Amino acid sequence: MTIETVGVVGAGQMGNGIAHVLALAGYRVKLNDISRKALDTAIELIQRNMDRQLSRGRIAEAERDAALERISATMTLSDLGATDLVIEAATERETVKQAIFEDLTPHLRPHTILTSNTSSISITRLASRTDRPEKFMGFHFMNPVPVMQLVELIRGIATDEATYQSCLGVVEKLGKTAASAEDFPAFIVNRILMPMINEAVYTLYEGVGNVASIDSAMKLGTNHPMGPLELADFIGLDTCLAIMNVLHDGLADTKYRPCPLLTKYVEAGWLGRKTQRGFYDYRGEAPVPTR
Ligand code: NAD
Repeated sequence: MTIETVGVVGAGQMGNGIAHVLALAGYRVKLNDISRKALDTAIELIQRNMDRQLSRGRIAEAERDAALERISATMTLSDLGATDLVIEAATERETVKQAIFEDLTPHLRPHTILTSNTSSISITRLASRTDRPEKFMGFHFMNPVPVMQLVELIRGIATDEATYQSCLGVVEKLGKTAASAEDFPAFIVNRILMPMINEAVYTLYEGVGNVASIDSAMKLGTNHPMGPLELADFIGLDTCLAIMNVLHDGLADTKYRPCPLLTKYVEAGWLGRKTQRGFYDYRGEAPVPTR
């Protein structure tokens, strides 16, 4: 199936990056969010990020202009009805995602493929709430989308081969590499990454180290480019907590118990970079550890 127009639901950190790479690869993009501010910020950010790519000689001026032209923003979900592929990248909460798919389904053309960029939620369960579980799968980008090479592709129990191949074709057209994962909580990347981040928060909670020593130990001791707490702030602490809850509920193993300190940061609204405060405070010139 030829995919020409892609709908992206959710214009947050991931949605704007997804719209960015799709438009540069030649797809028409309809970007949707319930928040006008999120849409405006996303369009501004895409422009700024493409300008940076232009100044570094990675893209030509004509490419940037054509890509920006291909993106339209809308607060009306049904405007995404006439797309060939939908990538849902809204808040990591199952009820939010279910409501989006339920509202969108009646407006879709029969051939439209539905996907979710969820980090952890069951693809099979999300698919079962639509009229097309065989045309539904997980399309999981990494953050920041324009930079990261990997896309995890996750088949639900009913996903058909044609749908998988169409999504694989999109990944290849984006110049990225796909890893195929089965539909179990948090798939591959977050099944391995999130327990490490959660353990770093326990290490902080129990006073084994402070924010600076934990991050520095993991950067210098294991050659990770970012420390786990810095990375958690980058991902968003609400998203990290949501993923730990999915692992804990879905695998029923206490080793996935979210650290109470992670819960406390989320309760405070200290969600990381996106709210200017998390394990670090980003409101000044340089990030300052909060513990
Ligand atoms: P975010 O908080 O930056 O953005 C979420 C956006 O969804 C917000 O702009 C919000 O207004 C919008 N939204 C909420 N309800 C909506 C609705 N009903 N309709 C349309 N828009 C709605 O979150 P994010 O980091 O971009 O994460 C989005 C998704 O991507 C989540 O499923 C997350 O698990 C996944 N993901 C995140 C990362 C990461 O590092 N942050 C990496 C890979 C995947």
